[in-house]
Order: sequence, then structure tokens, then C-alpha cells
Amino acid sequence: MALIAFIGLGQMGSPMAANLIKKGHRLTVYDINQPAVDQLVAAGANAAASPALAAKGAEFVITMLPNGDLVERVLFGESGVVESLSAQALVIDMSTIHPLQSDALCQKMRQRGFSYMDAPVGRTSEQAVTGNLLILAGGSAEQVERARDVLMCMGSELVNCQGPGMGIRVKLVNNYMSIALNALSAEAAVMCEALGLSLDVAISVMSNTAAGKGHFTTSWPNKVLKGDLTPAFMIDLAHKDLGIALDVANQLHVPMPLGAAAREVYSQAKAGGRGKQDWSAILAHVRTTAGRPENH
Ligand code: NAD
Repeated sequence: MALIAFIGLGQMGSPMAANLIKKGHRLTVYDINQPAVDQLVAAGANAAASPALAAKGAEFVITMLPNGDLVERVLFGESGVVESLSAQALVIDMSTIHPLQSDALCQKMRQRGFSYMDAPVGRTSEQAVTGNLLILAGGSAEQVERARDVLMCMGSELVNCQGPGMGIRVKLVNNYMSIALNALSAEAAVMCEALGLSLDVAISVMSNTAAGKGHFTTSWPNKVLKGDLTPAFMIDLAHKDLGIALDVANQLHVPMPLGAAAREVYSQAKAGGRGKQDWSAILAHVRTTAGRPENH
């Protein structure tokens, strides 16, 4: 069982640290919020008075903090982790931070001879409590294997994201998609209400369509991801249907800013000669508008 320093005992960090203790690890914890520290001490952790003291002798140092500036401060600030860190230790940042800041922290740690990896988590504090987080492990193959047992005390699933900084990158893209989709889903739900359509019916229908399942696993795999743009459902028709939906929403006074933005994307794709292509060719269109090759 490992000696682990855990820094950042908030909504996520506190139950994650508690799960490490439950699985038999020895924890030294640090947080600026004393009640959070006291709670972990009651669960069996030792308290440290600074990040440096927490990291002393630890095999793993885990940070779970609100942002990258705080991770930097905890690692390199006054009485920071690096002041006492062993060269054999592995620092695992599980916070959600800016990927470029994560890269810079990784680089700075390497330059000083320390080992650092990103391993942000998916899901919420409820899964942090039950130990069912989704762990998105960046880092080298060696680091991921070394951290695996410790990480799996906090999660039920670990994805090796294949390289330093790739955990925080996949987390970023995942959050981008789910956060934007949340707003799009709300537009659709309010449109249902305005139409007098049962939301339960809509949810049951859309749970089995690309609307609810997303395109990565439905309309894309056998079409654009294979380079096949022959139409199963044409961009012209998608543009027409989106136009009808926006027209109806307009009549019902339901604002649809995301749908309106999407219509512009379909209009551009049509104007670029993709009207007769499959709707998954929207990916090829967005790639080219980003100045990237149409096929990856
Ligand atoms: P939180 O605000 O509840 O906890 C942050 C903790 O960090 C607090 O206890 C705070 O006192 C402590 N802290 C702040 N500055 C510190 C410092 N200088 N030294 C030591 N401790 C310090 O946040 P959270 O919900 O636990 O989230 C932590 C990270 O996990 C964030 O990066 C967040 O984006 C990410 N995340 C959160 C969720 C979620 O559902 N809450 C899900 C996935 C990822």
C-alpha cells in the first residue's frame, strides 16, 4: 500500500481521498479549508501543514484543485510540493485545467527531474463518493501503469489516453461537447413544450436516434469516418428540416440560438457544394473551414 499525498479536499477530492483510505492506502492530506482536512483526519488521514510537508516521503502526490494557477501554486509556490518531493514520486494532477497550462506544468516538473501526469476525471461528485469515476489517464505508458492501482481506487473505469496531456485534452473536448449539447437539448425540450408535445415521448424517441445518442456512434462510423460521403441523408434535406424547425420555433417565440448557428454551418456546406453529400460530411466541411485536410 502506498503513501499518498492528497491536496485539494473539495467536493471531488474529499470522497476520492476517503476511497483511497478505504482501499488501505496511507494518506497525508492538505487543504486551505480546515474543516475539510478535519473530516479526512477523522477518516484516517494524517494532516500536513503545507503542500511540501504533505509530499514528504510520498510515492504519489495527487492534486484535485479548482484551476491550473492553484495547481502551479501548490507545486511550485511557497512551501510547495517540489520543495520536498522525492525524484521517485509521481505527481498526478486530477483537476480540470487548461491543457496548455498542464503541458507547461509537466515540462517544468520534468526540467526539475520530477514525474508528472494528468489524470482528470469524468462524471460527478456522486461517482466520486461511490468510487465510480471515469479516469482519463494522460502520461506515458509507464506512468499510467504505475498509477493504475491507485487511480482505480477512485474510479470504475480507466482510459489510457495515450500520452502526456492527452487525458486533459479528452476531458476538455468531452466537456465542450456535453456542455454545448446540454444547451442544444434545452432548446429542443422547450420547443417540445411550445408544440404541446410530451417531453417523455420526445425523450423516448430520441434516446434511439442520432439526436439522443450523438453522431460519433451513429451517423459517422460508416460514413464520413470511412471517407464515404454518398448520402444516406443529404445535407440539402438536413438544411431544409432545420429551416422548418427554426421557422416553427420563431412562430412560437422560442429562441433557438444554437439551432440558428447550426443552420449557418449547413448553409455554408451547401454553398461549398456539399448539398448532395451525406449529412455526416458536415465534419469534412468544418475540417476544411478550419484550414485542415478534409480527410484525417
Ligand atoms: P471544490 O471547489 O469543491 O474543491 C476544491 C478544493 O481545493 C477546496 O477544498 C479548496 O479549499 C481547495 N483549495 C483551493 N485552493 C487551495 C490551495 N491553494 N491549496 C490547497 N487546497 C486548495 O472543487 P471540486 O468540485 O472538488 O473540483 C475539483 C476539480 O475537479 C476542479 O478542477 C473541477 O473542475 C474538477 N471536476 C469537478 C467535478 C464535479 O462534479 N464537481 C467533476 C469532474 C471534475
